[in-house]
Amino acid sequence: MKAILINKDDNGYSAALSDVDENDLPEGDVTVQVDYSTLNYKDSLAITGSSPVVRNFPMVPGIDLSGTVTDSSNAGYSVGDKVVLNGWGVGEVHWGGLAQKARLNGDWLVPLPDTFTPKQAMGIGTAGYTAMLCVMALEDHGVTPDKGEILVTGAAGGVGSVAISLLAKLGYTVVASTGRASEADYLKGLGASDLIDRNDLSEAGRPMAKERWAGAVDAVGSHTLANICASLKYGGTVAACGLAQGFDLPATVMPFILRGVTLAGVDSVNCPRPRRIEAWNRLAKDLDISHIETMMTEINLGDAIAVASDQMAGKTRGRVVVNVNA
Ligand code: NDP
Repeated sequence: MKAILINKDDNGYSAALSDVDENDLPEGDVTVQVDYSTLNYKDSLAITGSSPVVRNFPMVPGIDLSGTVTDSSNAGYSVGDKVVLNGWGVGEVHWGGLAQKARLNGDWLVPLPDTFTPKQAMGIGTAGYTAMLCVMALEDHGVTPDKGEILVTGAAGGVGSVAISLLAKLGYTVVASTGRASEADYLKGLGASDLIDRNDLSEAGRPMAKERWAGAVDAVGSHTLANICASLKYGGTVAACGLAQGFDLPATVMPFILRGVTLAGVDSVNCPRPRRIEAWNRLAKDLDISHIETMMTEINLGDAIAVASDQMAGKTRGRVVVNVNA
């Protein structure tokens, strides 16, 4: 089978399109013929070696996949079932989706919702499922559309694009923070009512700023997240899932103790199975399916290495879907 294979040895760190023996697939009770995988930010970190995402070598990257079960000794899955996988350390410690086949623990899988084709499911991918988890976190903390504007950072990326689409369809007023003013039409097409320049948030700010946001979905971290906390309205919530600016958080406790704001952390990797199934069911209900095509760029498996560098350089838009059989 074809796969992207990452190696680290005396010659350094490398990623290459490779022929891999299926007998080398890792242990697992379900084998999946992969249709599509994607390039999430974490996949691009792994492929380019920009961050120590991969912990076993050689590794097939790809933290998500969609496909069809070809072999199963797991009671929950039969041959022919369509499935989706996100996270659980796949593509980090267990061979992942950027390959034509994957062998996995069946308990990690989610049945593909009927609403989506395998390609559409990866048009959403881990970034989109994480965006849904972020929206659910805002809802859990009582952020309703009548409370005011919602800020989405990293707006033209994968998490940001899906978050805008979801929030707009749910009736929220969404403001997109982006470094790419050239993507204004794209972001407004997904449902953003206004744009701000990400540079307005990226520098060290005051501990408390003017109250503006009822809620926020942050894919960026660092000063941006600190500035969001400082400008949440009284009782507001930011769902924090990303670190595109940095993993630091140079904030103060002031907005928390004086405005009762909430910093809600969102993790997709080890998210419990009932919550991830709920997230996929919510995506089937609450995402404008026509937006998937708008947000998606399809590439071939062999293109994944070059496009990973583009993603690290902030040049990809929305979701990058990888056809592993092309
Ligand atoms: P993308 O690469 O698709 O999007 C990231 C976006 O962040 C870019 O498009 C850009 O948006 C913005 N950005 C990039 N660099 C900077 C910077 N230096 N300062 C401010 N903004 C920047 O990535 P994903 O959407 O796949 O992932 C986004 C983040 O969420 C990543 O950090 C990823 O690791 C994290 N993530 C976390 C998950 C979890 O389980 N917690 C799951 C999935 C993702 P623009 O051009 O509009 O400014």
